[in-house]
This record gives sequence, C-alpha cells and structure tokens, in this order.
Amino acid sequence: MVHIATDRLRKVFDQVVAVDDLTLEVAPGEFLALLGPSGCGKSTILRLVAGLIPPTSGRVLLDGQAVDDQVRRQHRMAMVFQDFALYPHLTVGQNIGFPLRAGTGPVSGTAARVVEVAKELGIADLLDRRPDSLSGGEQQRVATARAIVRQPEAFLLDEPLSNLDAGLRARLRTEVAALARRLGVTTLYVTHDQIEAMTMADRVAVLRRGRLQQVGRPAEVYADPATAFVAALIGAPRIGLAQAAIYADTEKLVLDLGSQLLRLPRADPRLRSLADRHTQRITVALRAEALTPVPGDTAGPVLHGHIRDVQNLGHEALVHLDIGALPALFDEDIPRRVPDTAAPPVTKPATRRRFGLLRPARSRP
Ligand code: ATP
Repeated sequence: MVHIATDRLRKVFDQVVAVDDLTLEVAPGEFLALLGPSGCGKSTILRLVAGLIPPTSGRVLLDGQAVDDQVRRQHRMAMVFQDFALYPHLTVGQNIGFPLRAGTGPVSGTAARVVEVAKELGIADLLDRRPDSLSGGEQQRVATARAIVRQPEAFLLDEPLSNLDAGLRARLRTEVAALARRLGVTTLYVTHDQIEAMTMADRVAVLRRGRLQQVGRPAEVYADPATAFVAALIGAPRIGLAQAAIYADTEKLVLDLGSQLLRLPRADPRLRSLADRHTQRITVALRAEALTPVPGDTAGPVLHGHIRDVQNLGHEALVHLDIGALPALFDEDIPRRVPDTAAPPVTKPATRRRFGLLRPARSRP
C-alpha cells in the first residue's frame, strides 16, 4: 500500500492546460475516483502519476518521496485501460503472466501465481483461450488479473468498465471495488460516470478544465457540492439550476426567480449564509427529492410549476417542471444536456399524478 500525493501538478500540451495546479492525496489503501466531463484532464493525471509522461511543473510523491526513476515508479503501480490492451496472440494465461515474464516482477512460481490470480478473478477455466474468443466482461477480468499478478502497491484504472454493456458494468463495479479493498491496494479510478464514482469510491475528486473543484466522500459531494458545476455533475436525475436574485428582510429571505417569488423563513439555520447577500444574484439548485408535491392551498414556501413531461419509471415517476426561471448555464460540455428551462424533475410515487404546487422539502442555500 502506498500513499500517493500530487503537489501543484501542472501539465500543458501545446496551448492546452490539461492539469492545472493539482494538489491531491490518496491515502494508503484508499479508493479515490477522478470524476469529470470529457477533456477535464483525468487520464492525464493518471499518466502523470504512473510516470508515463513528465509534468510541466509540480511533483508526484509516493510515500512522501519524489520517485524520479520512471521504471521503479511504474513497477510499483499497475494500470488497466478502457480497451484492456490484451495481447491478441497470447493465451489468457500468457497475458496474465506477461508482467512476471517481462521481468518486472518475481520470476519463479509464475505458473502458480497466474492460476492463483485467475481463480481470484473467476477466470481459471479460460487460461488456454485467446482474448478474441472472450466476452467483454471476461476480457476486463483478464486485464485486471494481469494488473494484480505482480502485487502492485497501487492500481491506476482508466475507465476500465466503459466498453461494457450496462448490466455487466453494474456487476463489475461491485467486483472491482471489492477486489481493490480485498487486496488493500491504493486505487485511483478515472471515470466520467458519476454512478461509478459514487458507488465505488471512498472519496471522489471532481475536476473541471484540469482544476480540482472538490474532493470528498460521495455523500458529502452530493449533499454539499462546493460549486454549481459539482452539483450539476453529480446526481440523477440532474439537479435543476436556476438564476435568482435574493432579497432579505427581517423575517424572510425572498428568492426572485423572475416569474415567481419563493419566500423562505430567515430563521432557518441552513439559510444563514444567504442573509448577507441581499440584492445579489445567485444560482439556486433544486434536487428532485428535495421537492414534494403539495395541494394548491398549502401555506409556506411553495414553488409553482407547469408539468412539461412525466416519465414513469415504474417505482417512481420523474415529473419535469417549468418553473419559469432562467436556467443557470455552463459554457462547457457537461455530459448531460443542459435543460432549456430551469425545470427540476421531481420524484413522486407513480400512482400520485395530480398536483399544482411544490414544497421545497429540504431547501438548501
Ligand atoms: P476523456 O474522458 O475524454 O478521456 P479526460 O478527462 O481523460 O478526457 P485528458 O485525456 O486528460 O482528458 O485530456 C485533457 C486535455 O488535454 C484535453 O483537452 C486533451 O485534448 C488534451 N491532451 C491530452 N493528451 C494530449 C496530447 N498528448 N497532446 C495534446 N493535447 C493533449
């Protein structure tokens, strides 16, 4: 188990700042996910940590030491890539044993170690097959077996499940995370899939344009996003983001959403940070599950919305609402479509279909 740290790491390709001033730590045995949209620098960070490319400035530290010898650095870590990168002309057994035979691990006992690792991954009966005769999930397991065969101190995984179908991906999510924990190996896991990051990782580091936005436990990042970008990236259905102006009087905080006013009690401790932002423009973020449908004559803070669309998912329905506010937009590619109106979807039991007003159940600043 190794402690991995990056210290003000920066990588510039031509004009592109791929990684900018990244200071991050991964504790020994920790599973940390690097999450962000395409092009935000995730793979570059992994390649910098692996020593495959040099940084423009800054350092990578293993157990507090800058390991300048790239071969020694790579020897301590194993990488698994999206395309698995198996050797097509070698059998599964030869593929798994390759790092041992290539002289980067213990040479004696290779055959026994290959069988041991194949059993660990549940592929012991595939050892004589060639990669092109395997399913995607089997290939993924072979790639993982090859990564763990020489008992690395760290795993660096670059979207290792993204070429698999949804069902298999869900199963392997659990398997890969369990394996990393069983082996106690420090893991850096690159993904643009927030479900993978949230379900597999001890902590999630969210990146935008090469810069770290927030790092924290999945529940923290979800419940207390540091920026609107983090809020929008994490959570399905996607959070609704709207522009608003805020007005504070002695009793109430009033959010002016353009088409309607939302009056919130000023005494609510969760709203304390908003009280001194009188007349400022803010972004309001509404999670679906924080809204509850209520009858039309309900007193208290309510939002009015027109139902645009209802998606019945069986156990719940997603109701897309137009609340008439201007959406808060990002000038970049968040992988899901930015809605054309700020219309937070609302979850509700599939059987209850009629309502006119919404109560913010857990209003957050
Ligand atoms: P994806 O999820 O699409 O793989 P990513 O978050 O892993 O994206 P990177 O592959 O790290 O992003 O790329 C970050 C930025 O650096 C991108 O703008 C990319 O075009 C650029 N980049 C990466 N490698 C190179 C390179 N070898 N030469 C020039 N630009 C590069």
